[in-house]
Amino acid sequence: MSESNVEDRSQATMEKIVSLCKRRGFVFQSSEIYGGQAGAWDYGPMGVELKNRIQRFWWKEMTQLHDDIVGLDAAILMHPRTWEASGHVENFTDPLVDCKKCKQRFRADQIDPAKLAKKECPECGGELTDTRKFNLMFKTNIGPVDDGSGLLYLRPETAQGIYVNYKNIVQSKRMKIPFGIAQVGKAFRNEIVIKNFIFRTCEFEQMEMQYFVKPGEDEKFFNYWREQRWAYYAKLGVRMDKLRWHQHGPDELAHYAKDAYDIEYEFPMGFKELEGVHNRTNYDLSRHQQFSGKDLQYIDQESGNERYIPFIIETSAGLTRQLLMVLCDAYEDQKVGDKGNEDDWRTVLHFHPIVAPVTVAVLPLMKKDGLAELAQDIRRELKDEFATDYDQGGAIGRRYRRQDEVGTPFCVTVDYQTKEDGTVTVRFRDSMEQIRVKREELEATLKKAIKEYKRG
Ligand code: ATP
Repeated sequence: MSESNVEDRSQATMEKIVSLCKRRGFVFQSSEIYGGQAGAWDYGPMGVELKNRIQRFWWKEMTQLHDDIVGLDAAILMHPRTWEASGHVENFTDPLVDCKKCKQRFRADQIDPAKLAKKECPECGGELTDTRKFNLMFKTNIGPVDDGSGLLYLRPETAQGIYVNYKNIVQSKRMKIPFGIAQVGKAFRNEIVIKNFIFRTCEFEQMEMQYFVKPGEDEKFFNYWREQRWAYYAKLGVRMDKLRWHQHGPDELAHYAKDAYDIEYEFPMGFKELEGVHNRTNYDLSRHQQFSGKDLQYIDQESGNERYIPFIIETSAGLTRQLLMVLCDAYEDQKVGDKGNEDDWRTVLHFHPIVAPVTVAVLPLMKKDGLAELAQDIRRELKDEFATDYDQGGAIGRRYRRQDEVGTPFCVTVDYQTKEDGTVTVRFRDSMEQIRVKREELEATLKKAIKEYKRG
């Protein structure tokens, strides 16, 4: 096999990711036994661990490591006036066209403008309908009567829950500007085009942080948050050459935004938005002040009780989209064969140990001769500190491969020597290197390896 073929075969494709996710319990199609529900996905045993870890990593980064940021968990159902104030009722629309021939539906802004002008379907060449505006918010109804009087929306973003609580948080936590509010939660959008697995779905999770600053200081903090968010991905252990900035041009910039950048990742289908860092000016709080009639000005005691509506710098990331990015970034089909066994490959997920669903798997070389009991005893010792797995089925090489495929960074193997001298083998996922350590030093060895981890 030539070098370039090796390169091709080792790459992540969306098909490989989808198949691995199902096979190993990361992500399943929603309601699969009924034929599946478009736009929704279920996170299996591995997926929910990965998602929770990414969320915890983000939460720690934003709150624990930033003294001036506090958390919030607002309700999904909000007063419908919220969405009038935010502009979503009026403006949260996508331009939509349908093909009269093949019946496919497209976002007009994602079609080649020349084809759109000729009303030509990009798939079958049939005739397209006129462009219609389509609001992406899901509607629902509260109360027993469904006559429109109980109209509610499923929130299309988590940010508005932060804005409407800003005064509560300033008062209850005595926050001083500049400060931020972080939140993770579900959001819903009736997306027209749902493809690429969990990249764009109707139900997803966001991790958003809104940073409140004094007008005039917004550009300084906008740059600060761009740097911070870039540095986050390096800490997450992602290949940084797969990331790039995209600045919104005048045609993309929301009318209220002063400046906006997206961090894009090179997914198998090309560079796509991962997260946005936006300077939203004082638009959001001004609108909520206007629509609610409540005074949302901040009284700045540091500047002689000056009153103003804060500017907001937003960092808005999709949790489920980040999970897809972490999977794509970690995936490798690696040629491990050597002489006489050239075509031996393994699938390995190079997760950073901090997000890996299982941190350490304990494997007895044999079930017999007390090795299984000894291995289970060692697992018990590790449980409190690490997410562990135990596997005693099949040849040891196959068990390593199974752990590689779900991205377990460390395997601990218990063999006959363990019985004699109390040492175990630690096997490292990326390098496949093996070292022997004393049982008493195992925990410290693993902790050090996690702290010093660099993708191999
Ligand atoms: P797009 O233009 O791709 O529709 P957007 O710019 O409207 O996305 P934002 O409103 O800025 O997206 O949302 C912030 C983040 O939330 C995005 O960067 C993305 O990570 C995530 N996100 C948005 N919509 C979806 C979706 N339908 N499915 C999964 N994640 C999403």
